[in-house]
Amino acid sequence: MEFALSEDQRMFRNMFRDFAAKEIAPRAEEIDHEETLPQDILRKAANQGFLGATLPEKYFGAELDGVSYAMLIEALAGACVSVALTVATHVSLVAMSILEHGTDAQKDEWLEAMAAGEVIGAFALTEPEAGSDGQAIATRATPDGDDVLLNGVKVWVGNGEIAGLFLVFAKGPEGIDAYLVPRDAPGLTVGYREPTLGLRSMFFNTVYLEDCQVPSANRLGGAGEGWTVAQKALDRFAIAVAAAGLGVAADAVDVAAQFATERVQFGVPIAKKQAIQNYIAEAHIEVEALRYLVYRTAWLADQGRDFSAEASVVKAFGARVARNVTNRMVQVMGGYGFMEDYPMARKYRDARMLGLVGGPTELHYVRVAQHIFAERDLEITP
Ligand SMILES: Cc1cc2nc3c(=O)[nH]c(=O)nc-3n(C[C@H](O)[C@H](O)[C@H](O)COP(=O)(O)OP(=O)(O)OC[C@H]3O[C@@H](n4cnc5c(N)ncnc54)[C@H](O)[C@@H]3O)c2cc1C
Repeated sequence: MEFALSEDQRMFRNMFRDFAAKEIAPRAEEIDHEETLPQDILRKAANQGFLGATLPEKYFGAELDGVSYAMLIEALAGACVSVALTVATHVSLVAMSILEHGTDAQKDEWLEAMAAGEVIGAFALTEPEAGSDGQAIATRATPDGDDVLLNGVKVWVGNGEIAGLFLVFAKGPEGIDAYLVPRDAPGLTVGYREPTLGLRSMFFNTVYLEDCQVPSANRLGGAGEGWTVAQKALDRFAIAVAAAGLGVAADAVDVAAQFATERVQFGVPIAKKQAIQNYIAEAHIEVEALRYLVYRTAWLADQGRDFSAEASVVKAFGARVARNVTNRMVQVMGGYGFMEDYPMARKYRDARMLGLVGGPTELHYVRVAQHIFAERDLEITP
């Protein structure tokens, strides 16, 4: 059993942290308040190879291993969770789905442009009446000669505003299909941008598909294989969401510990008070436990083994640690933790979303329970 990072992984980690500290952290408050993600941030991320992080060199990807990619998302989230999840949506949900299920023609058409950041990806599964129960989608894919017509409404599509490519899930004659739908496809309209409690620098939009016409050749994977495409994408994304939880929680501890050494009450820094030390120590212990679970799950995925149960474990734990730690670090900072002029309020709001995005915690518990009972020959349904 080897716990040490390789020399390359250490080098990458330093590079990710430098980028986050120089290019994102100084602007994180401003972009949160302005509720936007300036495109130059994504351009700089693309120049570093982050938008093709795990794609092969053939497509101008950085070909990072899973642990290094988790450290990238962790570092970005330490500065700004919105930037981290914008990148993770693009890479884990869309680009990697094309790499895993795409034809050579689909890979050639999209992957290089995605690695360069010329095309940003979005994942369009959720609908007004189909959230946790993703297989209940009402969007239809109707064959029309060599084309297919997509009709339906997708909600909360992350990156919707800035996406050049939508991975759309729709019911076809043989079950759920996945389609690659370019933004300029006739009949696709990006609509309402949803205001949110956290992740305010990320874009979540409603997407309308009205007789949206795409070639049948844009189907990703076989007929009726869309649900498998979605599940595999969400398993990859689960590790990225947990890595984002690790990043935001670890940074929250850093910020609160620094604050505690500077804030003086009763004549001494509050860091000298045992209650404060306990909060910080407990938070650190949870962060360290999460760190090894994230890296281990990423490593497991790299081995090409099935990691769907582990993905749910790490996603549920990552969301919990991020929420608990940021909550306690608000308490360490007292009223300053609640003030929008200090970074903890944003971290707390952002961390809250990690238990929803990529499937709610309850659904991940169901999958963990299914796994536990299946090992004991008992089948349960959600
Ligand atoms: C910030 C954000 C970003 C998102 N980005 C995207 C995106 O880019 N693309 C996309 O397609 N979707 C996206 N989603 C949708 C997200 O995946 C869904 O919110 C999620 O699947 C849950 O659906 P719902 O919100 O409709 O909740 P519901 O399904 O209505 O669930 C409500 C509550 O009931 C619980 N529940 C439901 N069924 C069960 C069950 N069987 N057992 C136990 N509890 C259950 C849930 O856990 C939850 O607590 C995003 C959501 C958010 C909040």
